[in-house]
Amino acid sequence: MLTLPRIESLFASHGTAYYGGEAISQTAHALQCAQLAEQAGEPEPLIVAAFLHDVGHLMLAESSTTDMRHQEAAADALAELFGPDVTEPIRLHVAAKRYLCAVDAGYFSTLSEASVHSLALQGGPYDATQARAFAAGSHADAAVRLRRYDDLAKVVDLGTPPVAHYVDMAARCLRAA
Ligand code: FE
Repeated sequence: MLTLPRIESLFASHGTAYYGGEAISQTAHALQCAQLAEQAGEPEPLIVAAFLHDVGHLMLAESSTTDMRHQEAAADALAELFGPDVTEPIRLHVAAKRYLCAVDAGYFSTLSEASVHSLALQGGPYDATQARAFAAGSHADAAVRLRRYDDLAKVVDLGTPPVAHYVDMAARCLRAA
């Protein structure tokens, strides 16, 4: 089971790895994603979701040729700590990419090469029926907002708050015991 100290140690031990095929580290990506959500005035649970959305990548030994469904691993592992306002946008952030490819004509061209590669492994763009089903589900809006921050959180050498800032925020969002 994940705890906040365990999450901090995951970032410390695996966060220096590159984020997919991008030019920044996992930790930098997580911090930039959270910072974008915070600057947009999102509620704290969604900022925490942005910070933790790829923690599955830190938990799993992954390959570049199969999809390990990091979104499910993270959401399931985090569910004992946080409510659905944190876990469900994380669970849906890959679906939100598939959705945006279906409904936003300009979206696909904004994706990085690495993100296009993972999209194929993740099942590709949704068709119209799948897109409608996604949009009708709960947490779809939050997942789409998280996805937009995720896609932008790939800037080399951008200043951000430290991990501790978002771990403290996560502590405020913990489920009541
Ligand atoms: Fe990401």
